[in-house]
Amino acid sequence: MISRRSSSALRIFGLARSHPIRSPPRAFSTTQVVSADLGTAEFGEQHIAKGIGRLTKHVFEEGKGTFITTDKGVQLLDLTAGIGVVNLGHCHPKVSAAAAAQCSRITHAQVNIGFSAAQIALLKELIPILPHASLDTVFFWNSGAEAVEAAVKLARAATKKPNIIVMQGSYHGRTNATASMTRSKTIYGEGHGPLMGGVFATAFPYYSQFGGAKHDTSTEELVNQSLSQLRLTLQQQTSPSDTAAIIVEPVLGEGGYVPAPPAFLHGLRKICDDHDILLIADEVQSGMGRTGHLWYVEHSGVRPDILIFAKGIANGFPLSGIASRKGLMDLQKPGSMGGTYAGNAVACAAATATIQAFREENILANVAARSKQLFSFLHELKESGTKAGDLIEDVRGSGLMVGVQFANKKLSRESDNVAAARYAKPQHQIAPQVVQECIKRNMLLLSTSVFDVLRFIPPLTINQQEMTQACGIFKDALEAVAKEL
Ligand code: PMP
Repeated sequence: MISRRSSSALRIFGLARSHPIRSPPRAFSTTQVVSADLGTAEFGEQHIAKGIGRLTKHVFEEGKGTFITTDKGVQLLDLTAGIGVVNLGHCHPKVSAAAAAQCSRITHAQVNIGFSAAQIALLKELIPILPHASLDTVFFWNSGAEAVEAAVKLARAATKKPNIIVMQGSYHGRTNATASMTRSKTIYGEGHGPLMGGVFATAFPYYSQFGGAKHDTSTEELVNQSLSQLRLTLQQQTSPSDTAAIIVEPVLGEGGYVPAPPAFLHGLRKICDDHDILLIADEVQSGMGRTGHLWYVEHSGVRPDILIFAKGIANGFPLSGIASRKGLMDLQKPGSMGGTYAGNAVACAAATATIQAFREENILANVAARSKQLFSFLHELKESGTKAGDLIEDVRGSGLMVGVQFANKKLSRESDNVAAARYAKPQHQIAPQVVQECIKRNMLLLSTSVFDVLRFIPPLTINQQEMTQACGIFKDALEAVAKEL
């Protein structure tokens, strides 16, 4: 018998109807397969956590290079690369072969029990390509968020200080600690508190973060404003003696696709040096050749104390990690780091093959050529004097990490307020509509941030003809949206 009190409690949690308290034990028989009559996408919708937002209802079955094929045989041009992961394209033959070979050698070489040969082989390829010679010691994990957490643990253990400064607009993950460090949208933390404490946010030099600042506000002005805000943060919110690290995405990713100006990174380095604070570069999205540089910090010449990598490192296999100097890493007590799957052998073999393929196939040269092609197309469209071109406010980025920001001038005219178009509610934004129009035309494209921004993040192996096709679809999609405004 269920008491009235407990039955109403069950109703609150949505359990009462479908799960009687004394349900009979379930047998694993084929006749009991749940929702077996549903289509594949509907089945997924029914049984996969709703907390996962999803851009489309496509069911991806195969991926090759820049294309994905669905269970219905639809071919999609993939300008998302699985959110900057399959930088060498889907199922790069050398990476898939290396992973398959590793599967027959050893799949799980547990790092708290012994050394993993696959990890050692990877280190020999990885350490020489890290952005600074001081980064000679590595800890591998699985996801980007885990690696961010590893960086925070290292910073706290090494400095014996508790607080972390993040950038406004930052994205570092969805785990408890990283959600507290993520400031690109409230959704990642909303309703999940209390999150990790000791996190403070400061301004990033991005015009949309400065009220009514015009998009052509000078870089110098934005950098000066941002560094002043940081100095204030250290005077008003978290004292240098309590601050372990400042973490920055060298290209702000989920916050709007904004490259950090070199002067800003140099400013951060100086403030860190002046106050004994560690500088952490989160290159999870901007790393592994995405920006035309192997790592975007290289572009400024700034040395991070800790580098975070993930996504493109293993071209689709779950691998992440941090790199730092041995003197710092050795401050952590043995046993304080690790994890069952940390630096999985198959993922490491895939990463080794990824780095080798980068070199052998001169991927960075293709990034430079395709980036030039994409930027010329976007600038030409912006300046075309057409209704579609007039919607584009800003084109920015580096390599194949390219953002397009829109402004619905109709909104700013109506309210006579520069900021109105920029802070348009999602239902008035142009980017999500363009994304939907692209999907109708079988191209996957993503928006980013709370602002009206689209991002181009294709596989770095995309060829000239595929890029021309992508630009054509984008133009058609934008024209379709412009016509309705
Ligand atoms: N840092 C940055 C800069 C990212 O872009 C992401 C993922 N978008 C993460 C961390 C988190 O990585 P993951 O999703 O693998 O946990």
